[in-house]
Amino acid sequence: MSTDIARIRREVCDLHAELVRYQLVVWTAGNVSARVPGRDLLVIKPSGVAYDDLTPANMIVCDLDGAVVEGDLAPSSDTAAHAYVYRHMPEVGGVVHTHSTYASAWAARGEAVPCVLTAMADEFGGEIPVGPFALIGDDSIGRGIVQTLAGGNSPAVLMRNHGVFTVGDTAKAAVKAAVMTEDVARTVHLARAHGRPLPIGEQDIASLHDRYQNVYGQSSDRSATPSAAQPASQGDTKG
Ligand SMILES: [Zn+2]
Repeated sequence: MSTDIARIRREVCDLHAELVRYQLVVWTAGNVSARVPGRDLLVIKPSGVAYDDLTPANMIVCDLDGAVVEGDLAPSSDTAAHAYVYRHMPEVGGVVHTHSTYASAWAARGEAVPCVLTAMADEFGGEIPVGPFALIGDDSIGRGIVQTLAGGNSPAVLMRNHGVFTVGDTAKAAVKAAVMTEDVARTVHLARAHGRPLPIGEQDIASLHDRYQNVYGQSSDRSATPSAAQPASQGDTKG
């Protein structure tokens, strides 16, 4: 096992605990994957294993067609969707899927979350878009994710009647996007339940988004998560 793969097995395992910590998943739903840099491989969680039982050793290594390369268990049933994203979005280093409650409620209505918070402008550069209805089992979900995200600012898509898929230049950035997606989906839900959320002008959204990317020094607009090389004091929060 290469050191890269060993490191990514641990990273992907640890990031699954974040989905639990932020209450984005129940039972065995949800998954995180990471691309193995420089190789046509990804690391993803095994299918149907309880979060408490996930270990670096039982993470599954697959090729970018979703075929198992290392691992005794079956990979997540969403592996084909993750693999499709890595094949078609070379800039993506991590993918996350959840059925987090508020975001999935927007997905159930097939409704994009409108950009009515500066935090949304920062993180998503606009609305969180809705992707098509797609059944599991072939490339439909992956295709819907890529078609919806390609060329846009948002690192998150609400797949209609299903849930959230997020991407990032790292798996950690994709997890952050999943956390932020649920956070703003909940806030905008509450805002709308009690009145009419006020839109933010397109120019203001663009300027907030640009500033946020510059403050955190990321060249990619897929992620505003500080890299490991940056001081830890910058943390993961904005402000
Ligand atoms: Zn799902």
